[in-house]
Amino acid sequence: MINKKTLKLSLKSLKDFAKKELPDEKLLELDKKDECPLDIVRQMCSPDGLAIQLLFIPVEYGGMGGGAFDVYCICEEMARIDLGIATSLFATFLGSDPITVGATPEQKKFWMSRIAKEGLLFAYGATEPEAGSDLGSLKTTAERVEQDGRIVGYKITGNKQWISNGGVADAYSILANTPAGPTWFIVEKGAKGFTHDQPEEKHGIRLSNTAALALDNVYVDADRLVGGVEGQGLIQAQLVFGYTRLMVAAFGLGAGWAAVDRAIPYSTKRIQAGAPLSEKQGYTHKLIVPHVVRLEAARASIEETAERIDAGEGSLNTEGAIAKYMATEAGNAAAEAAIQAFGGYGYTHEYVVEKIKRDVRITTIYEGTSEIMEMTISRDRWQLHLKTRGQHYHDRAKECEMLHASHSDVGADVAALNLHALAEVMEKARVARLTRHQHVLLRLGELIAHAECAASLSRRAALAADRKLNEKANARFDATALAALARIFAREAALKIAEEGLRWAGTAAGPNDSELAAFEATLQLPALHRAQAGLLSDMDYIADVIYGRAKRAAVAA
Ligand SMILES: Cc1cc2nc3c(=O)[nH]c(=O)nc-3n(C[C@H](O)[C@H](O)[C@H](O)COP(=O)(O)OP(=O)(O)OC[C@H]3O[C@@H](n4cnc5c(N)ncnc54)[C@H](O)[C@@H]3O)c2cc1C
Repeated sequence: MINKKTLKLSLKSLKDFAKKELPDEKLLELDKKDECPLDIVRQMCSPDGLAIQLLFIPVEYGGMGGGAFDVYCICEEMARIDLGIATSLFATFLGSDPITVGATPEQKKFWMSRIAKEGLLFAYGATEPEAGSDLGSLKTTAERVEQDGRIVGYKITGNKQWISNGGVADAYSILANTPAGPTWFIVEKGAKGFTHDQPEEKHGIRLSNTAALALDNVYVDADRLVGGVEGQGLIQAQLVFGYTRLMVAAFGLGAGWAAVDRAIPYSTKRIQAGAPLSEKQGYTHKLIVPHVVRLEAARASIEETAERIDAGEGSLNTEGAIAKYMATEAGNAAAEAAIQAFGGYGYTHEYVVEKIKRDVRITTIYEGTSEIMEMTISRDRWQLHLKTRGQHYHDRAKECEMLHASHSDVGADVAALNLHALAEVMEKARVARLTRHQHVLLRLGELIAHAECAASLSRRAALAADRKLNEKANARFDATALAALARIFAREAALKIAEEGLRWAGTAAGPNDSELAAFEATLQLPALHRAQAGLLSDMDYIADVIYGRAKRAAVAA
């Protein structure tokens, strides 16, 4: 892990670099030309340039040894600049992940030192034309090449699809089926039989190079098999999901905030009906405030997960999935709202929010789609529900009740109600065997993500009040504002759980009137509804904070 000062310096260098090399006009021009600025990407990874890749490389290989929290901060900043370039840099991180988790010490030293010293660009070759979300169905094969009864190498044959840096990388990690199952191999550019297509013409992240790969009997020596043991590929891929999904979560967060941060100043200058849009509640409370709330709720989930990964709590795949799901959906919705916030100007290229909207769209697709996130979250928490005989979320609710006892203003009481209601929805689903319906299972994933995120944001607000937030945590909002954000988000989650819980758990089984009434009572619907009291004034307060009016109002009072 790196210290706060070094992280701050790295973030500043990144911002300064972007200001000089990537002004809006240049980004828009590259976007229009659908061109990956390889020289810029190389400069960003060059030891003589920005050398941003050093952040995630362990110290023993010449890097800075950044942890999950550091990487989240850098990813958010990169996404604020341009998500296409961020993707290009991310591909090296992702491509070298199988090495980080599964390689032999010699392989780690060889490849990670090269990434550090030479700024080697990597690509991550997992997806295939017929194997996307279900990677297990991959068709690329790695055939053993033996000499004197010893495996000396492999011949890899197959096709990879949508590979970031596919046409520009120096080295590729390629997932291929060996006789013992899926396995990662490192293939270098220029290997005989290894070709890539023209870059894809994409909806967004047009500054990143995405290309299909073709491997026709590409020979690699046996030491290019990551870890030296066949069949470990899917396990190695799983091991880093928590971490890598956190990075894409940070992309969603950064891109979402980039859009909102363009809409906010615009709305202070745009006069309609005699006053700036920023003073119109119907504008701010629809197009700005709810998105700020959701982005910050997602941030709470990201920061908490990053801290736990750094504390050695394991790969936290489900928490990473929750963070990715919430942040990328929030980022996507925020960018969409930002177009609306700019009116007709938002619909043109010049104001950039249109580009951000196209760019951020990818974050709900790559590194696991939102639907796969819903499934991952739901399946894991379903197991916890069963194992604890339905107590898991009641226990989490009790923790929030305790938090409410010490911090009565951070929405933890409502977060607790949400978690109790969620436990009841899941129990109803169990009794009525509703998870046989995949749709119900995935909708539960959405409710779980919202309920857990609301609890995370309450905890974040409480930590801020106690001045115990991570020293590297985002400090845009103070403790009072975070408490208001937490109350607003907890209310939103409450209504979602009440409505959707009733919809899927209550009606799918077709219960009679008295069963339905009993179920409504277990959800504590009146309390969830009463919790909405105070919503408008909290939204007014957040609007004041966003527009810098809160301090002025306090001084005037
Ligand atoms: C610009 C870009 C860059 C990319 N970069 C890389 C890269 O560097 N390396 C790499 O390996 N891959 C990369 N990908 C691939 C990306 O990870 C996949 O596109 C993604 O995992 C989804 O796979 P798919 O496209 O095959 O869609 P599918 O898996 O076919 O999914 C299609 C739809 O069906 C849904 N779905 C799928 N399975 C289920 C299910 N069981 N139940 C319910 N719904 C389901 C999905 O959520 C989605 O909405 C990239 C993709 C793009 C577009």
